[in-house]
Amino acid sequence: MKILLINPPARGGQSRDGRCQTEGSAWITSFPPTTFAGIAGAIRRSCPDYQLKVMDCIGCDMDKDEAFEKAISFSADLLILNTSTPTIISDLEFAQEIKESSSCKILAYGAYVDAKYGELIDKEQIDYAILSEPETPIINVISGKERSKGVAFKGWDGGKWMEKELDDLPFPAYDLLPPYYYPLSGERWMFVRTGRGCPYKCIYCTEPMNFPTPRYHSVKYLMKQFHWLVDELGIRTIMFWDEVATYDKGHMIELCKALISEGLSEKIKWFCTTRVDHFDDELAGYMKQAGCRMVTFGFESGDQKVLDMNKKGITIEQSKDAVKAAKNHGLMTIGHFIIGLLGDTPQTARKTSKFARDLRINFAQFYIATPFPGLEFFKIVSANGWLDEKAKVIRAPL
Ligand code: SF4
Repeated sequence: MKILLINPPARGGQSRDGRCQTEGSAWITSFPPTTFAGIAGAIRRSCPDYQLKVMDCIGCDMDKDEAFEKAISFSADLLILNTSTPTIISDLEFAQEIKESSSCKILAYGAYVDAKYGELIDKEQIDYAILSEPETPIINVISGKERSKGVAFKGWDGGKWMEKELDDLPFPAYDLLPPYYYPLSGERWMFVRTGRGCPYKCIYCTEPMNFPTPRYHSVKYLMKQFHWLVDELGIRTIMFWDEVATYDKGHMIELCKALISEGLSEKIKWFCTTRVDHFDDELAGYMKQAGCRMVTFGFESGDQKVLDMNKKGITIEQSKDAVKAAKNHGLMTIGHFIIGLLGDTPQTARKTSKFARDLRINFAQFYIATPFPGLEFFKIVSANGWLDEKAKVIRAPL
């Protein structure tokens, strides 16, 4: 059996993973596709006799014509398509062209698929939709166990799938990805998940739709993975791409102690994303000692009412305290802010802009509130008639 795993071409070097569906230009770089690498790792381990081809067209900067030609010439039996909400139209067009020129089955995954799989499996381009965490459901499809959890196709809806024991998964196949470079230093970097899941219910975020239960890899598993990244792949800049990396404070402290005792704190520079209400002075101290350089926080708004209306569950004071704790230990900070959330007005947006300056963080990133299908924010926006789903989409060619 020949399997083609493809991160198809997209305008602007689109990152497709989960909550970070942004164009490369938003961060001056595309993010390494961690979930995609996880699928490659799972197939490599579970199906060693099958021929697997991995095409990360975003990382290789491959255009659509070249991607199509390479995909067709491989003659896959199964094509696994990475998709995202902003790219779904071009993703489906790509799938359509493959279907018209080959007999391969197409399996799609991604946040849009999670929300709209019912419509997608009615289309002729998509044979299987994978819901939530993709590694195990994809292996099930490949192994002929299609009627399982996490898989949907015409006549079958297996519902969502969530891994219970993360250490059962193999390491993502980072070695099969093209090199990605950290924008500030130009060094090779990689996104690593120390855990998965977020129990919060921010109405604009895709995570609560799929991963409500926080789970972690053991520190032993993570250390082995870090040693592999550093010693064999030469990657020394790492982003912990967890939803809330410090949700389990004890786990983060245990990980920091291991990074220090095994000498990796001297070899790697790492960053992580977390919430301001799961960060404090003690954590900042351990993290700094363990090689952490920067922490990124979702402050979202400088207006408490806007935070509350969008169910962020943090206070302005907690945001200030988190930045203070990071600064106390010499950690840099990135702040994420969203303009246009529920309740936002020109006045509160100005308040957010001032808040971003007053926090004295190192970097501030502003996003436009985006209603992703399947989310509470989407439903409110639609119900109020603020979204024209039939609006003409104007796109530059890929
Ligand atoms: S805290 Fe909110 S924004 Fe962050 S991952 Fe969880 S649900 Fe998403």
